[in-house]
Amino acid sequence: MSEKTILVWFRNDLRIHDNEILFEAMRKADKVLPVYCFDPFYFKKNISGNAKTGNLRARFLVESVDNLRKNLQSIGGELIIRIGNPAEILPQLAEQYQVSEVYHHREVAYEETDISEQVETALWKIKLNLKHFIGHTLYHKEDLPFPIKDIPDSFAVFKKKVERDSTVRPYIATPERIFTPEIIDAGELPSLTQLGLNEPVDDPRSTARFAGGEDAALGQLSLYFANADQPGTPKSGRNVSGVEYRSMLSPWLAMGCLSMRKVYWEVITHQPAYGNLLILDLLWRDYFRFMFKKHGQKFIAAKETSAASPHLAANQEELFEAWKTGETGVPLVDAIMHELNATGYISNNKRQLVAGYLIHELKVDWTKGAAYFEEKLIDYSPASNWGNWAFIAGINDARESRYQIAGKQSVEMESKSEFIDTWLPALLA
Ligand SMILES: Cc1cc2nc3c(=O)[nH]c(=O)nc-3n(C[C@H](O)[C@H](O)[C@H](O)COP(=O)(O)OP(=O)(O)OC[C@H]3O[C@@H](n4cnc5c(N)ncnc54)[C@H](O)[C@@H]3O)c2cc1C
Repeated sequence: MSEKTILVWFRNDLRIHDNEILFEAMRKADKVLPVYCFDPFYFKKNISGNAKTGNLRARFLVESVDNLRKNLQSIGGELIIRIGNPAEILPQLAEQYQVSEVYHHREVAYEETDISEQVETALWKIKLNLKHFIGHTLYHKEDLPFPIKDIPDSFAVFKKKVERDSTVRPYIATPERIFTPEIIDAGELPSLTQLGLNEPVDDPRSTARFAGGEDAALGQLSLYFANADQPGTPKSGRNVSGVEYRSMLSPWLAMGCLSMRKVYWEVITHQPAYGNLLILDLLWRDYFRFMFKKHGQKFIAAKETSAASPHLAANQEELFEAWKTGETGVPLVDAIMHELNATGYISNNKRQLVAGYLIHELKVDWTKGAAYFEEKLIDYSPASNWGNWAFIAGINDARESRYQIAGKQSVEMESKSEFIDTWLPALLA
């Protein structure tokens, strides 16, 4: 009897721990063919004319794929790397390696699902099935106490019901051994130049240089526990001596170098300070994904996006340019935008603040801001980014109090300019 081979198409799940598609493929087939495609679609321009992927995130992605390859090699496997359209590459590889099925994790945002559909159609032409798995959320879709169409739109109700009536599944252990077919041409990692980007220059004042990959993700998780368990760290609240306490796990979660379930169960086991807040934040992430699943593009369908809208500033292009480059004249907004441009990462408070300022003070179309974040953020995740922006813009049911602070804060900004002293002058030098 001939051997069965399953192709595992990696996308935003660049890890070997808690990876259901890898686990299931290994369980069902004799051989597994892991593949990653650098899809040129993600290196084009987005709706505001910016790159869809900026060079900081692109570098993080290349590092993450590199680390995935090393981790697969360490258990006896290999990762095939290609640059090109997955709808062309995957059927070719499937035929070359006589694959019987293709596995992938289902996405929720429009562009990602569209790519999956293209792949599915292309595979159908050679009579192959693309099997979808759900692996990006903390709570599995099938364990929710309601069907997708009935998911409460209010985060508070969603949280209450999910926490009361559902449980988080255990995470899947890292495989010890994987069998891949003999691979003829595994392919090289692309350089940023090949992806049409310049090498980023790291800013010396960045608090962190995010290194892509599962190993760095697990390292950051350990660091989170080590910091949280420092003697004297309070067990609740969000601020330690005025500093916002956060895990900084988002880039790895967004690219799937780290599984949400892994984080959850480690928090439950170790009970670190602020662990409850970390779990709450993970739930926000789930909420945005499920909202996209429920409403599709309608979740972020702007009521007023036309430049001719009376609520939008007549000179919005000019105002948007000043906001992007940190030249609004409001010190705190400018400092935050400089930080975003230089590092690809700003905290949640800062995101709310500059988003609120763009929308409510400058009266610029919020989709421009969201598209700009899409380019710049290392942790860009379609549902979290567009969902948060739409909330701040009041497109959705923005009843949660944390989303109402952004507009108010901007009024007080000029008196809070101390941040500028340590950040802006050096950046301008
Ligand atoms: C305008 C705007 C745009 C945003 N765009 C993104 C984005 O593209 N990608 C992204 O991952 N997050 C986004 N967020 C959410 C949030 O700002 C970041 O997840 C958070 O700042 C990441 O830092 P952290 O890992 O230290 O977060 P922590 O506070 O330690 O939270 C842990 C994790 O929970 C999740 N999380 C926390 N807050 C939120 C939230 N409000 N919405 C969704 N998930 C959340 C993230 O995965 C995060 O890593 C956005 C928020 C705003 C206001």
